[in-house]
Amino acid sequence: MPAHESGRPAALHPETVVVTAGRPPHDPDQPLNLPVHLTSTYVAGGELEYGRYGNRSWTAFEETLGALEGSRCVSFASGIAAIAAVLDLVEPGGVVVAPRHSYTGTVGQLADREASGRLRVRWVDVTDTDAVIAATDGAALLWFETPTNPALEVADIGALAAGAHANGALVAVDNTFATPLRQRPLADGADLVVHSATKSISGHSDVLMGAVVAASEAHADALVARRSLGGAIPSAFEAFLALRGLRTLPVRLDRAEATARTLVERLSGHPGLDEVRYPGFGSIVSIVLRGGAAPADALVGRTALWIHATSLGGVESTFERRRRWPAEAETIPDGLVRLSVGLEHPDDLAADLIQALDAVG
Ligand SMILES: *Cc1c(COP(=O)(O)O)cnc(C)c1O
Repeated sequence: MPAHESGRPAALHPETVVVTAGRPPHDPDQPLNLPVHLTSTYVAGGELEYGRYGNRSWTAFEETLGALEGSRCVSFASGIAAIAAVLDLVEPGGVVVAPRHSYTGTVGQLADREASGRLRVRWVDVTDTDAVIAATDGAALLWFETPTNPALEVADIGALAAGAHANGALVAVDNTFATPLRQRPLADGADLVVHSATKSISGHSDVLMGAVVAASEAHADALVARRSLGGAIPSAFEAFLALRGLRTLPVRLDRAEATARTLVERLSGHPGLDEVRYPGFGSIVSIVLRGGAAPADALVGRTALWIHATSLGGVESTFERRRRWPAEAETIPDGLVRLSVGLEHPDDLAADLIQALDAVG
């Protein structure tokens, strides 16, 4: 345990952990924030040796996210680099079970590896718990995200993890949408938790970074080895910014979630909408426009506050029609617009969106 953690009472609340973890010791003249460690190499003979093997700015971030998820964290250059490192744990030719509705980059990476013969994929509907468990027979890895992007389906992590383990498969959960404040997959039995720290964790749309939290030391060591070999390392500055963002995640998420609930209430029943999807927590809402792609494309050009942009989890509210991406699953409605709710006043956000919806009808 690092020296600055030794004086802490056990089982602190996550709101306290995000503020206190990953700091220098409380000694005279220590800075409160760990400075950005900009160095490619270290004086020989210690643990770090070279900048691709370790950096204290990564470690401060990893200690904090790891404490929230409940195990050892390994940071990566991006969420997709973290996903690649997890898929690298699958032996060549191994079977991966994954939901049809997953982040497009995940689907693309699985399909690419399958096309080159490195693994085989069984695509499933993550809400059909029995079918997912049946598909893990003989599989190396069950991969899923919940809530799913952008359909916002919710998976039963505990049941899926128990069923997959009974079949001998590892279980990895992409926890980007829920964040460790709303869902802790390791506590529900998962082996690995993946994050795009680009999103709510860093929270200000100015960082790309990813992380994996592993229940076992052996997996964490294997992931560190992958990172050192593959070189998908975060920059020290990105790690600093991601940790700075993470410190305010609880207040940002509480606020964005309250606003998301307000928006769900005010949008429900709007004649221009077929559906308002919300899993009951978090800052992401998906709306489905009745007229399909055309009004959805018109909508994203008619707002003053909502910014038409991909990505999510920032302080500023953004939205996009997901099917504008050719790689998005065809089972996602053409008129689905994913809203990433930020920190602007809920009345302003609702008014801006509703005037645009009224206009496109
Ligand atoms: C954005 C995202 C990723 C990919 O992360 P990057 O940081 O963009 O590489 C993975 N999973 C989910 C759920 C995402 O939203």
